Amino acid sequence: AAVALLALAGCSSRSADDSGSGDAKGFDKGSLIGVALPDKTSENWVLAGGLFKSAIEEAGFKADVQYAGQSTPVPDQQAQIASMSTKGAKVIIIGAKDGGQLGTQVKDAKAAGATVIAYDRILTDTKDIDYYVAFNNEKVGELQGQALLDGLKAKFPDKKSYNIELFSGDPGDANAPVFFQGAMKILQPKIDDGTLKVVSGQTDIKQTATKDWLAQNAQNRMDTILQGSYQSTELDGVLSPNDTLARAILTSVKSAGKPAIVVTGQDSEAASIPLIMSGEQYMTIYKDTRDLVKKAIEMTTQLSKGDKADTTTKTNNGSVDVPTFYLPPVVVTKDNAAEAYKNNPDLEKLTQQ
Ligand code: BGC
Repeated sequence: AAVALLALAGCSSRSADDSGSGDAKGFDKGSLIGVALPDKTSENWVLAGGLFKSAIEEAGFKADVQYAGQSTPVPDQQAQIASMSTKGAKVIIIGAKDGGQLGTQVKDAKAAGATVIAYDRILTDTKDIDYYVAFNNEKVGELQGQALLDGLKAKFPDKKSYNIELFSGDPGDANAPVFFQGAMKILQPKIDDGTLKVVSGQTDIKQTATKDWLAQNAQNRMDTILQGSYQSTELDGVLSPNDTLARAILTSVKSAGKPAIVVTGQDSEAASIPLIMSGEQYMTIYKDTRDLVKKAIEMTTQLSKGDKADTTTKTNNGSVDVPTFYLPPVVVTKDNAAEAYKNNPDLEKLTQQ
């Protein structure tokens, strides 16, 4: 089963897509590859920087890997991408802080001859994007929604209906609404038929958003909701878009003296794996950062040879259909947490500290 997890996470089938764009001329070994990552809002981003640097160098290129800082992430990222274009980067790989605010920079990057690859988060409302590589975000949301339902039924076998609350991610992150809509595909029919009740009444993405993906913001919102809506009734479950926010939500529930709930997550973070093994956090999503980085660098190598990069589908970004390579996300619960943890030496290191 350990092998199955790795296979699922890393080795999806490759199919050439002749509509993908790219630099038909290719480029030499030793060329500069730029990587612009957002602020470190979760462990996947923390790991990505080091992984990118070594993968780029191993593939024979020069790496310029930059993170946006937490205080002014959007201008940081704009300046970093502009500088990569000026330095003649052949490929610029972007994990956007705010995918809607890099239009000028990617336009200039393309004019300077770079190929633009969106990494994990798509860039919205721009034509100047060549490829997108990510775990299938809508699928992530669907898996979270289904797991929340399954978890509630398993934890409260005698209940016919459940009280839940909904959380989503940062509004600037194009993934946030996709995760939420994926989950709501599963949850909305159950809200409509009365199986699920959102006691606060907050079901709109604006109401559920967690600014900057910050744990403190999720914890504050959960505190307020518990005070306002759960004085005389119990909370059974929470849709949380990732592990960082799941732990913040659990902290809030605990400090309010409320009984244990079913909560979802994403990322298989080192700090959440033990909570999943003990059942405190019901589930997470295994998205191996090593596989996603590897895929982005495989695409880069294909482009360097003057080929198009392999893609599996297209994603509309509000402006164009972007050739996309999706990796499959995998659900992790108590049942397979030990495997997910064993498969990831980075997590192993982090949990042993
Ligand atoms: C990523 C998630 C991550 C979140 C917060 C999203 O764009 O896809 O894996 O939890 O950002 O950093």
